Order: sequence, then C-alpha cells, then structure tokens
Amino acid sequence: MGLRLFNTLSRAVQDFAPLDPAGKQVGLYCCGPTVHDSAHIGNFRTFVFADLVRRHLEFKGYAVTHVMNVTDVEDKIIARVRAAGLPLGDYTAGYETAFFEDARALNCLPPHHTPRATGHIGEMIALIEQLLARGMAYRAPDGSVYFSIEKYRAGGGRYGQLVHLKSEELRPGERVRHDEYAKESAADFALWKARVAEDGAVFWPSPWGEGRPGWHIECSAMSMKLLGPSFDLHLGGEDLIFPHHEDEIAQSEGAGLQAAGQRFVRHWLHCAHLLVDGKKMSKSLGNFFTLRDLLAKGYSGREIRYSLLQAHYREPFNFTLDGLDGARSALARLDECLTRLREVAGDTTEGPDPALLRTFTEGLDDDLNVSAAWGAIFEWVRQVNRSLAAGTLAPRSAAAALAAWEEVNAVLGIETATSRQAAPAEIQNLLTERESARRAKDFKRADLLRNALKAKGWLVEDTPKGPKLKPR
Ligand code: AMP
Ligand code: ZN
Repeated sequence: MGLRLFNTLSRAVQDFAPLDPAGKQVGLYCCGPTVHDSAHIGNFRTFVFADLVRRHLEFKGYAVTHVMNVTDVEDKIIARVRAAGLPLGDYTAGYETAFFEDARALNCLPPHHTPRATGHIGEMIALIEQLLARGMAYRAPDGSVYFSIEKYRAGGGRYGQLVHLKSEELRPGERVRHDEYAKESAADFALWKARVAEDGAVFWPSPWGEGRPGWHIECSAMSMKLLGPSFDLHLGGEDLIFPHHEDEIAQSEGAGLQAAGQRFVRHWLHCAHLLVDGKKMSKSLGNFFTLRDLLAKGYSGREIRYSLLQAHYREPFNFTLDGLDGARSALARLDECLTRLREVAGDTTEGPDPALLRTFTEGLDDDLNVSAAWGAIFEWVRQVNRSLAAGTLAPRSAAAALAAWEEVNAVLGIETATSRQAAPAEIQNLLTERESARRAKDFKRADLLRNALKAKGWLVEDTPKGPKLKPR
C-alpha cells in the first residue's frame, strides 16, 4: 500500500504522489522557529512531526530534501530586540543555537537546508518586484508594499484555499500591517514594511526605500529558492494555516512562477496543537515547558520524543508529566526486550523479519497512524518476550527481529547510540546487589553476580567513582 496523507488543501486523505516524474525526489518545507525566545515543547511537537514525515518518506525509498527556515526577523523579534537594546543578530543567535541543540536532543535529523530570513532579503525583494510587475502588489503611501487580494482574484487567483473565506468578508483595499491577524481581519497584507522608528536598526535598502520584509514573503522566497516554484509537501503547526500559509500560496502563485497546471505546494500538512489542561501551550498563556525545563526535571530527550509521538498529528495532544512517566516505563519495556534479543542474537546477522515491518508500515502509511504503529511494536515485544521466556527463540530469529527493529527505529528515532548503552532496570538491580555483597565482604556472591551480569552482556568496571556498566 502506498502512503496516504491528509491534505489541508483538499480536506481529505489523499494518495501521496511526488511531483518528480521518476517518483523519487521529494521536496519538503516546514516553517521553522521564530528565534525570539526559547522554543517550547509545543513547538517541538510540530518539529518532531516534521522529522517523522521525513524519516517515513526516506524509509519508503524517497530521496527527501528537507528545508526548515529560521525566522530571524518579524514583528515579535523586533519588539524583543528593541526591549533588549541589542543588534538583531546578537539577539537571535543564542536562541537559534539553543533551538538546534534542543532539536538534536530530541533526535531530529538536521534538515538539509536551514535558511535564515535575514540571509534572503534579496530573494524576497525579487519576489515582491515580480508581484508588482504582475500587478498583484502595490505601494502604499508610506512606502510599504502590499499584496492586493482584489487583483489576485481578478487574475484568477483563489484567496481562501486553505480556509474558507466569504467574499463579502474580504474588504478590498483595506490593509493589515501586522504579521499575525485573524481570519476576520483578512485584508491586503504587507510584503514590505517601510522603516519606522520602532524598527531601530532593523532595516534593509530596497527599490521602495528602507524597510523590512513581511513574515509571509520570507517563507515563499526561501521555499521556492531551495525547492523550486512547485514542491511536494509544506508543513507547520495548525496556527499557521491562516494567515501565514494562505498568504504564502497567494504570493507564490500570484508571482506566476509555476508551470501551467501546477500549484505552489501539492500537499499541506498541519500538526494539531500540544495542549496543557485543554489550552494551547504558548508563551503568551505562560503555560509552557521548554525542553530544558523537562531535562532539568530528569526526563530524557528520547522520553520526550516518545511522548510527542504518541498522538496522531491531527489530534490535539494533552501534555502531562504523568504522560512522560508512562513514556519512561514503556521505553524500559522496549529496551529490556531489545537487550535480551541482542544477547540471544550474539554475532548472528539476518535480514529483517517482515512481520513487524508490514504492520508498522501499514500503520504509518495510513496518514501516519502512530497508534497503529506503536500497537504493532508492542504486540511484537509481547511475542518476542513470550518466545524468550519459553527459550524457543533461535539466534537467527532474534537477529531477524533486531534487523526489523533497526528499520522501524530509523523512522521513529527512539533508540539512540546513548540509550543503547544504558543498562535496563534488571541489570541495574544486579549491579546494586553486587555492590551490597561487596560491602558485606561477600566476595563469592559479588563474583557470582559479576558473572551473571557478564552472561547478560554487561561488564562491570570498578572506578574511583563507583562501579560502571559497559555493554560487552
Ligand atoms: P514559532 O516559533 O512560534 O514560529 O512556531 C514554530 C512552530 O511551532 C510553528 O509551526 C507553530 O505552528 C508550531 N506551534 C506553536 N505552538 C504550538 C503548540 N502548542 N503545539 C504544536 N505546535 C505549535
Ligand atoms: Zn513559514
């Protein structure tokens, strides 16, 4: 079965088919972080989702080009820069570095391109010039440039592809300068904002005088530069559907760069919000956890990643610390099973057992149904544990199970080199028992326990800081 994905554009689950006639190359763009503050784990729900989409496409044999921009200039950033009294780049650099560190801690694969908005002002200006040349944009009296919804519609463009907008709600000629606004305030939006005193030193020269780009043109310019005027997948959190993504479509298609019959983006995927007590986790509500908050509480990146991958991406996900504790015990069960499989398999190698792969793939192919995929994995763990307990698992079968797990893990990114080194609870308990025996000077028992650990694949190293476990 092929991959099927919900497309916000058609509001239906559709077969995924790339633009590439060879069916191989896939272009994927996900709106990246606004580096005005630390990202919270609600933001990371969206980025872990994007990572899952990319990894699943790669698992299915596609050659994915994954682009994630860094929004390092827009309204909120300028307000912060002004308050901090710092140059723009100095202000954003620390948040950008922290974001990429956090993404690494969550085992997200680095996107192939991470363009910064401030590095693409020239491309944005060129796109705005194209829109002016086609009559889709106009200069306002203050020197700003606005997108004309009326001209776009007169030229056959459809404003309101991702959200339904009643035409009587659209007020031709009215303008909205802010980057963020509600559907009810839909109006001509700013492509280029003429410099004002509040912008401080944040401005660039342009054919229309000094100013700065609007937020929406940033993503149109960067995505089309790196993926071409038409590409396969555009992702983001559901709050970006309007106005950000609607405006991206208008700008990109209004510039008329696509080949006849092609759209700017074929599939739009939006991740539902991460909630806390039923409310969107957000900076403005003050109900947020950053990744660092959770790491400081002793949770690991993989526990958080696992937790973020529990709910279907189109379902809101209620975040709780209890949920993270649940992630911890589920992962312990999985780790235990994998460790024992490795003990049985030893050096034996084998091709992947197709049974797990089949059910896992069927789950994810069905619009990334993670519940079905996890269900397949934990059913597999139960079966493996049963044969391990019965002592009926041959090394070749264990190796085949592990080879299948490697493929599954390449998609989920849940087992890492570090987690593989960490001993499961049963092993930790044996080590504690050995320590007690040593302290009680029962060296015979301590040696027996050391040998038991070795038989289970773990070596004990006595260091000045106490005993350490190392996989054999
Ligand atoms: P921002 O840094 O605010 O531009 O947001 C980065 C990404 O996180 C965007 O795709 C947002 O849609 C997404 N996002 C923001 N808040 C949440 C949330 N509570 N749950 C899931 N995604 C979110
Ligand atoms: Zn964007």
